[in-house]
Amino acid sequence: MKEYVNEYKKVPVLDKIICDMCHKEIKKNNVGNYVDYFHLNKTWGYDSSKDGRTDDFDICEECYDKILKLITK
Ligand SMILES: [Zn+2]
Repeated sequence: MKEYVNEYKKVPVLDKIICDMCHKEIKKNNVGNYVDYFHLNKTWGYDSSKDGRTDDFDICEECYDKILKLITK
């Protein structure tokens, strides 16, 4: 006879989001949702020097605006 114990699967729960540029925490609004932010996920292809690397960035709106100013000049 075998007895099993139901173990709850440990699933990672999002605790906080940190901006990858300024390292400030992305805040939540008054109903508990994160204020909007920019998310970038890129897996580089075989024809690049970053072959197969995946980059993943979360950027707050303030830093996103700084990036926009740099690339839209
Ligand atoms: Zn930021």
